Amino acid sequence: ATPTALLTGTGRGAEMGILIKGPQILESTRRVDTVVLDKTGTLTTGEPVLGDIVTTGSLAEEAALKAAAAVESGSEHPVARAIVDAARDRGVELVTTTAFTNLPGQGARATIKDTEVTVGKADLFAEVPAQLRAALDAGTGTTVLVGWNGIARAALTVTDTPRPTSAAAVARLREQGLTPYLLTGDNEHTARAIAREVGIDEANVDAGVLPQDKFAHVKALQERGRVVAMVGDGVNDAAALAQADLGMAMGSGTDVAAESADIVLMRSDVDAVADAIGLSRKTLRIIK
Ligand code: ADP
Ligand code: MG
Repeated sequence: ATPTALLTGTGRGAEMGILIKGPQILESTRRVDTVVLDKTGTLTTGEPVLGDIVTTGSLAEEAALKAAAAVESGSEHPVARAIVDAARDRGVELVTTTAFTNLPGQGARATIKDTEVTVGKADLFAEVPAQLRAALDAGTGTTVLVGWNGIARAALTVTDTPRPTSAAAVARLREQGLTPYLLTGDNEHTARAIAREVGIDEANVDAGVLPQDKFAHVKALQERGRVVAMVGDGVNDAAALAQADLGMAMGSGTDVAAESADIVLMRSDVDAVADAIGLSRKTLRIIK
């Protein structure tokens, strides 16, 4: 491959909002046969909105929201932002907390008036009432629990919708001969619902994956002979982006993701992934 043609390819990419970090990256782009897509912030807008609140006992919905929002005001996660925004919209006061702890891929925790309040996945709680277990398995949103001293007392569901372009973009990737996978820290139920909406096979959905395990899923595909592109936006995607044969970060995502990737997609749209693949194939065809 002549360097000039490759540079022309990267220049063309830049015009399309596809920032390719070096001319040699076009070669790995061309060889890709598998595309692993993160869910939140990649296939979806990453701007979920709070919907249902289910509470147990005498707990009021507003009290559940108030405690959850206070804890989540310390977190940058999309679920946290949805909860804090809903509290603001409803005029619920954000009380101060101490000892905030971020629990990556699981939730967050802080102390409010000497009581430990946790928001996040069921695994974080010693006790989850049956009514809340049922809420976790219902609907297509992401349901997180709120609890005091290890006992879950309420369930909050946030819904994040696919980007309008995601389904067509996944179809384009298939036409290019690539196999799409969905890799997410979110639960199986939500992951499958989104996969159905965008056209990813149920067998190719890996849900409930902790941030530190995402890269291992990419590695497992590589060990099966796949040449893998990983597309993500979050801090939790960084190691997987680095592990992949080709890492692609959404421009709207975190700096860590962009730094770990080979390509940054300024349009923040899965359609740009198909554009990047198309561009590399065209560039290298011209060279040969
Ligand atoms: P994804 O892979 O979809 O980008 P993450 O790994 O960031 O998702 O998070 C996985 C799951 O962990 C979320 O769907 C949510 O259930 C839970 N979670 C993570 N961070 C928080 C938080 N700050 N508050 C509540 N739940 C959280
Ligand atoms: Mg994400």
